[in-house]
Amino acid sequence: MPALDLLASSPLATTLCALLLGLLVGSFLNVVIHRLPIMMNADWRAQAREYLKLPAEPSGPRYNLMVPRSACPQCGHRISAAENIPVVSYLWLRGRCAACKVAIPRRYPLIELVCGLLSAFIAWHFGATWQTAAMLLLTWGLLAMSMIDVDHQLLPDALVLPLLWLGLIVNALGLFVPLADALWGAVAGYLSLWLVFWLFRLLTGKEGMGYGDFKLLSLIGAWGGWQVLPLTILLSSAVGAILGMLMLRARGASRATPIPFGPYLAIAGWVALIWGERITASYLQFAGLGQ
Ligand SMILES: [Zn+2]
Repeated sequence: MPALDLLASSPLATTLCALLLGLLVGSFLNVVIHRLPIMMNADWRAQAREYLKLPAEPSGPRYNLMVPRSACPQCGHRISAAENIPVVSYLWLRGRCAACKVAIPRRYPLIELVCGLLSAFIAWHFGATWQTAAMLLLTWGLLAMSMIDVDHQLLPDALVLPLLWLGLIVNALGLFVPLADALWGAVAGYLSLWLVFWLFRLLTGKEGMGYGDFKLLSLIGAWGGWQVLPLTILLSSAVGAILGMLMLRARGASRATPIPFGPYLAIAGWVALIWGERITASYLQFAGLGQ
């Protein structure tokens, strides 16, 4: 197949394809980030009413990731295919709804752009390989769950658990680390934060993290093996401290404002998966412990 040969032989073509794919997926991630929490909420309400033996609420129109079509929240204008081209449509419409001219949040094109650039980077870094395919799925999942965590202080099991299993599967297929490392990574990832959570709680009486964070670190361990965990925890604390201080300055938020830990873990885990060995090696050399 000539098209695949071209992809395999030209890193530039691979990177450009991943950029376009990433932009399109980013557009879909905007839908996931917005709708998944609403779907989960409806689900919980239905389950709670069933448990309390309350009559079920009348079911509204069907609502999932596919239907209804995206519409302007202000005027209900259905977003056409031409208005749904990642980033381009936003610039073309100058950031306003085509019908009522209400401002479209800048976040939508930004997430599309970030998703496109991260995807392009993955393809450039790993080339036309199965590693790229796997890392793209992971990157998209981490991006979606981070934004949902920012919005709702919630890491959906519906995203975290499938990606955790996928990490074990890709390593069973020999993509990144030996399967045993991945397995112990998943176990140690969960247990380490679980221990920190209980120690913190015993000492301070406060809860500093959610169970979603344990599962997320378990996921990262499943992809990168137990070896990436120390670096991930270290980096996430550093990123969290830096971004937290910046946000305190920018917003003047009080110290008690809950800052979700998930995005920091996701960023740190992603960096540790890609550059972990190099970062650890240079650190050990810096500390005079390497050869
Ligand atoms: Zn509108």
